[in-house]
Formats: sequence, C-alpha cells, structure tokens
Amino acid sequence: MLVVLGLTILVYARLLRRRLQATKDHEGIPTGTLLYSDLTVPAEPLFSPRLQLAGKPDYILRQDGHLVPVEVKSGHHPHPQPSHVLQLAAYCQLLEETSGEFVPYGILVLNREPTRIPFDPGLRYSLELSMERMRRVLRTGKVTLNHDDPHRCRHCSMRQYCTLCLGENPSPGP
Ligand code: SF4
Repeated sequence: MLVVLGLTILVYARLLRRRLQATKDHEGIPTGTLLYSDLTVPAEPLFSPRLQLAGKPDYILRQDGHLVPVEVKSGHHPHPQPSHVLQLAAYCQLLEETSGEFVPYGILVLNREPTRIPFDPGLRYSLELSMERMRRVLRTGKVTLNHDDPHRCRHCSMRQYCTLCLGENPSPGP
C-alpha cells in the first residue's frame, strides 16, 4: 500500500514538474532553479509586516546564487512600462524582506521576451516614493488621475471599482 502511494506521489511530482517546465518554456522564462510559481499552482503571497505590503510574483528563480522574482506580462507595448517595473521592484523588496537575502534584480517577461531589471538605488528610491504616495492617498482619500489614456482604463483590472475610469465604466459586481 505504502509503495503504491509512494509511486503515485512520484508520478504526480514528475507530471507537475513537466507541466511547470512546459509553462516556463512556453512563456519564455529564463533558466534558473524554479523555487516558486503562482501561474500553475496557487502560491502563498509574500508579506512584509514592515511595509504592510503583500504580493505574489509569477515565479521565483534561483539564478547564479541569487533569488530572482519573475513577472510575466503580455500586451501591445514593445517595452516594459513604468508600472511593470514598479510592480517588479515591489516583488524584489518583498523577496528581500521575507528571505533576508540581497535581491540584485528581477526579470520582466514581456510577450515572452525576458528583460533583467536591476533593483538598483534609483529603482529602490522610486519604489519608496510610490509607496509614500499610496500611503498619502490612503490617509487623505484624495486621488488624482495621472494619465489620459482610455485604452489603459479599458484593460485595467480595477476599472469596475474606479470612479476616475476614462470611457465606459462597467457597473460594480455584487
Ligand atoms: S480604471 Fe482607474 S485605476 Fe484603472 S487605469 Fe483607469 S483611472 Fe487608473
């Protein structure tokens, strides 16, 4: 009985590994030891009590001894957008806080094309500024629109809750 159970677990683990590898290959995920994936199996979010911030990168790899968060995006933009870069920076920060290890860069895979984004002092500073802005908005409740692109709103996951949405705003769900 135990042997059958052991074999079943082995086969299942192998199937899961193959499925992960196939997804990695399909999405253009760079090489490295896969430690975490949120695309094929639901994963625990990373949480920083200090920053009161939680998030789930699509993958975490071990590359050349470093922990590296990987975020997968698709869309009509040929290059990583500032919002993509800030999101990845937040994952770098969360990974540093939760692992206690230095995270020198993250990887953004845009339309199957990986780009290494250094988590350098400039990006760390931009992240701190953005978080400070977000905290201020939460404190004051005052939000200002920072773009005039209805296309962006059309593809925004927050559009049904957003009162500043440009273009048609679907009515909130139940
Ligand atoms: S729907 Fe709201 S949150 Fe989303 S992009 Fe438009 S203005 Fe920004």
